[in-house]
Amino acid sequence: MQVLAVTPEIYPLIKTGGLADVTGALPLALAKLGVSTRTLIPGYPVVMKAFKKGRPLHKYAALQGGKAAIYKASLAGLDLLILDAPHLFERPGGPYGDATGSDFPDNWRRFAALSQAGADIAAGAIKGWVPDIVHAHDWQSAMTLAYMRYGAAVTTPSTLTVHNLAFQGQFGAGIFAELGLPAAAMSLDGVEYYGGVGFLKAGLQAAWAITTVSPTYAQEIRTPDFGMGLDGLVNMRASDLHGIVNGIDVETWDPETDRHLVANYSAAALEARRANRNAVEKRFSLEHDESPIICVVSRLTWQKGMDLLVANLDGMVAAGVRVAVLGSGDAALEGALLAGAARHRGRVGVVIGYDESLSHLMQGGCDAIVIPSRFEPCGLTQLYGLRYGCVPIVARTGGLADTVIDANEAALSAGVATGFEFDTAQPGSFMHAISRATAAYAAPSTWSAIQRQGMKADVSWDRSARKYADLYKSLVARKPA
Ligand code: ADP
Repeated sequence: MQVLAVTPEIYPLIKTGGLADVTGALPLALAKLGVSTRTLIPGYPVVMKAFKKGRPLHKYAALQGGKAAIYKASLAGLDLLILDAPHLFERPGGPYGDATGSDFPDNWRRFAALSQAGADIAAGAIKGWVPDIVHAHDWQSAMTLAYMRYGAAVTTPSTLTVHNLAFQGQFGAGIFAELGLPAAAMSLDGVEYYGGVGFLKAGLQAAWAITTVSPTYAQEIRTPDFGMGLDGLVNMRASDLHGIVNGIDVETWDPETDRHLVANYSAAALEARRANRNAVEKRFSLEHDESPIICVVSRLTWQKGMDLLVANLDGMVAAGVRVAVLGSGDAALEGALLAGAARHRGRVGVVIGYDESLSHLMQGGCDAIVIPSRFEPCGLTQLYGLRYGCVPIVARTGGLADTVIDANEAALSAGVATGFEFDTAQPGSFMHAISRATAAYAAPSTWSAIQRQGMKADVSWDRSARKYADLYKSLVARKPA
């Protein structure tokens, strides 16, 4: 099985979020199942610097306003196809915007070009290689499936993964004439979206199958509350919609070998976590005592429920827990958290910033991690928490609900509980979960049982890769003879 993946991000080359982790890890896990993936990515400066140009596999005299070419490269165990289009991708800043954080005004053109190249490869533009299936990720590559549908690769099976429905790639109708699609595509069942052009919408319409990164999120996006205006279309495609949870890199995230920890440990020797906890106390200027430390590692945004954390900070301190927060994001939330730390010196510590190493130490030293997301397509920090014995206390939504087993009486007596769940919409629910967690913490054998059960959970890519492989097979079987 030969897969063409099309993505705007791939770990370890270019990452702004969980999407990059998926596109970087999935090909390696699929390879073990006999599925080969070649991944088409934009030739951003960091990408162009990472490989030596050989002969191009395909050349464009003009692609969205300039010369372009497709090169191949092997990096970090990944087979890459790189779209070199200097007029679109050779510029300073991030993958989507300049250094000040403003989106590039021609993002529609940049990702239409990526998508056109994807559809051309699906149609045989590269000599000697035609994919059996095309897998696009998020709005930036979703148009690949529209170009396939209205072009030569109309019979090639395809799937679109939605990592977060909040990002849709919506543009004015004026761009349509420059997309190079037939006039018929500007229709309700094509790329047209509220009078303009919707890239994600077009992909949802054209994909043979749609996946999102957890079964619960797949159900949630069928409702107006989570559907972000697309729930009608998602419902129309419900029979082709699948939820497959993300895995994590269990080698980078392994408490037995993690070099970011002060002390390594396994489920059989959880006492060793204490040395990590002492290091967390120092780093966050927390008092040294026996009370639990509950941590947060997160973008500080409304989606992540960080306003709920702020609102419950005093309550958490009153309940006797210490709180350690690592994150950055909305200035107002950063300020409110820092004010909380000033109010509760020694009980609440806040580090504003992005610190990969510290995030590992926190998972290895804190007792619990709280994740109050309003919506969460999959979520990774609860998976790290499970693997590190840092008990997840999570909102019952999306991937959080799918990966954490609430420590209710039934789950405790069956020996399957791995964390605590609450409902962000219900007043008091957050603090009720914190109280249930502190009560469990006060009974050491209960607490360590919850930690060990979490550490037994399979959070690797293996299971999920098998699901993607099965989906690919079922789609290829549907291909007309
Ligand atoms: P999202 O992609 O929506 O931000 P996820 O939970 O899927 O949320 O992934 C977030 C990733 O970013 C995790 O790997 C988490 O550890 C990491 N992360 C978030 N904030 C920070 C931070 N301030 N410092 C270090 N790592 C962070």
